[in-house]
Amino acid sequence: MYEADTIVAPATAPGMGAVAIVRLSGPQAMAIGRCLWQPLRPKRCDSGRLYLGEIRDPKTGAPIDRALAVFMPGPATLTGEDICELHCHGGPFIVRRIVSLALAQGARMAQPGEFSRRAFLNGRLDLTAAEAVADLVAAHSDAALAQALAQLNGALRQRIEGLRSQLISIRAHLEAEIDFSDEELALPSRPALAQAIEALRADVAELHDSFDRGRLLRDGARAAIIGRPNSGKSSVLNLLLGVERAIVTAIAGTTRDLIEDSLSLDPYALVIIDTAGLRHGADEVERIGIERARTQARDADLLIAVFDASQPLGVEDEEVIDLCRGRRGIALLNKADLPPAINTDTLAAHGLTIPAMSISALRGEGAGELRTRLRDAVAALQDGGGAPGQIAISRQRHRQALAHALDALAVARDNLRAGLPPEIVVVDLTQASDALGTICGEVGSEDVLDAIFREFCIGK
Ligand code: GDP
Repeated sequence: MYEADTIVAPATAPGMGAVAIVRLSGPQAMAIGRCLWQPLRPKRCDSGRLYLGEIRDPKTGAPIDRALAVFMPGPATLTGEDICELHCHGGPFIVRRIVSLALAQGARMAQPGEFSRRAFLNGRLDLTAAEAVADLVAAHSDAALAQALAQLNGALRQRIEGLRSQLISIRAHLEAEIDFSDEELALPSRPALAQAIEALRADVAELHDSFDRGRLLRDGARAAIIGRPNSGKSSVLNLLLGVERAIVTAIAGTTRDLIEDSLSLDPYALVIIDTAGLRHGADEVERIGIERARTQARDADLLIAVFDASQPLGVEDEEVIDLCRGRRGIALLNKADLPPAINTDTLAAHGLTIPAMSISALRGEGAGELRTRLRDAVAALQDGGGAPGQIAISRQRHRQALAHALDALAVARDNLRAGLPPEIVVVDLTQASDALGTICGEVGSEDVLDAIFREFCIGK
């Protein structure tokens, strides 16, 4: 358990804004709040309602700010403890001042994620919901929002609970066999139990394999723009983003490092990376950029391969075609406003395996079609790993726990088939159940909690 002292932190982002919120949670939250803040017209303050009042330095009586306050008694609160929130004017100095007054009254500065951690420890949130809160705040597409919200509403927890209850029923049969071994009981046969474990494994595997889809929904797909220098990569990036994000020049080798930005392709997000042009005979700095370009190309979910259609194919273009082999993406025959030297047939004859389309990044021709095709490509990426619309996992922690559960279930199935005693199979099944339990935080160590809540910012 944690030490139930009173913590304080700004709940709003640092910087200037109309309003900032300073949140107190713990046994002294109400007392400290009342010490700092007084209602304008003396009256009784009902809990859960906002009242206008004034914040003063309790030592000197000096007024600090006019502010709203709300007092929320636990346990039906965010953290499960008493909470007081002071809604002050959104100036960084005011916020610092109020926080230091609360500290002087005995509160302690909250650690990153400490409010959410207390919510978890007090049973107000399970770990999947706490993680969903972090995902909600970090979301930058409707798809990411929808996934985080479904998880916050318990979709992942329910899925895990469903898997665990299947496990419990298999285990119950084995335990009955242990307890009533010499009595005549109509228990399922061992092959039937092995089959039930196998079916459960398939369900766990489906959730495990949803990771790529979940990650894509949460973080957005990644597309690397590749091509030889001057083919128009930076122009394509600027065209897609609708702003001059990358420098466009006629001098080869201008983009020497990676430029990354996010594009909204309703409802998805696509992170686009402009890479250094692939060419031979570059200097040291450019060579490092080119190596990074190759790595990005390897790791990206999609490739946008840009060719200068006004020039014959060169060796660097051949390398681009090679990088596209076996990958998803789209090839662009850029500079369609100039007389063509190559076309889609030329690219196909040289072994290009991804679809190609013409575009003029300079004139903005083909931009609409490119966006549509990219959106379709991102949508196609979501098809892998489980039915669309079904909850998907998006964290390595979940994937690892499911992988442990899969291993334990495989051992249980094999031991059952090999005729080992039910006591041993029960141990394997318990391991699988514990592994699933860690996802919601039922079985978790302090280290795991530290790692999860460290990701949160202060005040969350
Ligand atoms: P990168 O080196 O591949 O990033 O290429 P840039 O985007 O910097 O473009 C190289 C040169 O090609 C610049 O002078 C651009 O103005 C020009 N360019 C880019 N796209 C087009 C196009 O569609 N048509 C024409 N005519 N020129 C283009």
